[in-house]
Amino acid sequence: MLQCESIRVTYGSMRALDDVSFKVPAGDVVAVMGESGSGKTTLLRVIAGLVMPDRGSVSWEDRTITSDPAHVRRFGLMFQDYALFPHLSVGDNVAFGLRMQGRDAAERRATVDRMLALVGLAGYTGRGVSELSGGEQQRVALARTLAPQPQLVLLDEPLGALDRARRDQLLADMQRIFSELGVTALYVTHDHNEAFAIADEVVVLDSGHKVAEGTPSDLWTNPKHVAVATLLGFPVLRDVAVRGGRAVVGGVATPVELADGVYHLAVPPGSVVIAAGGAVPVEVHGRRFEDGSVTAVVDLDGVQILAAAPDGVALGRATVRVDTTALVVVDG
Ligand code: ADP
Ligand code: MG
Repeated sequence: MLQCESIRVTYGSMRALDDVSFKVPAGDVVAVMGESGSGKTTLLRVIAGLVMPDRGSVSWEDRTITSDPAHVRRFGLMFQDYALFPHLSVGDNVAFGLRMQGRDAAERRATVDRMLALVGLAGYTGRGVSELSGGEQQRVALARTLAPQPQLVLLDEPLGALDRARRDQLLADMQRIFSELGVTALYVTHDHNEAFAIADEVVVLDSGHKVAEGTPSDLWTNPKHVAVATLLGFPVLRDVAVRGGRAVVGGVATPVELADGVYHLAVPPGSVVIAAGGAVPVEVHGRRFEDGSVTAVVDLDGVQILAAAPDGVALGRATVRVDTTALVVVDG
């Protein structure tokens, strides 16, 4: 098990990470999710031993490793840019870590073949890496990372450079490979679809702070924090005042089941619907057609919302029904 305790990293006067604690149990995949600049790469580099935290500790199997040099940690790293050795063949790239470990030629060959088969590149051993597509290069990088049997695999936006089809394929393959090999991994991404597909548990960073942690379904049903809601694509109505069981939404007093107070309310998909005779008047600014359904782009209290809409919804004035029971209170 990996354990990070109260990690703090400061660059000059900039606090990149503050009081970040979490665990990666053996055999689990934990995702670290956050927008660009939230501190994900810094956290990964602390765990890898490439950045020394100014406070806090990293431990592996209950032993503190905070000041151990990177090369003794036996952790495997994989990045967005494949970082393959361009002058080496596919097989020599994959064998690199094994050579460093002093494995003999026969064992190296057998492991390389097994790893290439695992990532769907059986028979590619003798190819040059520059002849490969981006997706294939990233598969070689994965095989190279896994070949030395690292105790922990650290992945930093590994699918970031691939197109959607290639990304979905490699993501599914990684799920299969990690479960087949029982890999323990930390997977860094800004993309909730990737995080939710691959991880047992997701840690969410916002400006260097851990703002939420939970399973994908925990976070989807209760995003807890504006930063999580935003990463999930839920718009947030900020500072909504509730008085006597009513809140003003889109200029209309609407019943809500909340005590008096001021709230940030996240709007999950499907909770705002274009409907004739809906209570709240809106302006439809645009239309989208995604994954088989139509949504209308509307403004609600200055926040852009995608409202479920009938086929052929017209631009201009309309009314929406807001399912206030679906709105989720989040911290800001
Ligand atoms: P992420 O990977 O989530 O995009 P990073 O960990 O790369 O975030 O960066 C977190 C913050 O720390 C950013 O504001 C970034 O500009 C800053 N930062 C990262 N590395 C350095 C560095 N070597 N020196 C100074 N600032 C840095
Ligand atoms: Mg990064």
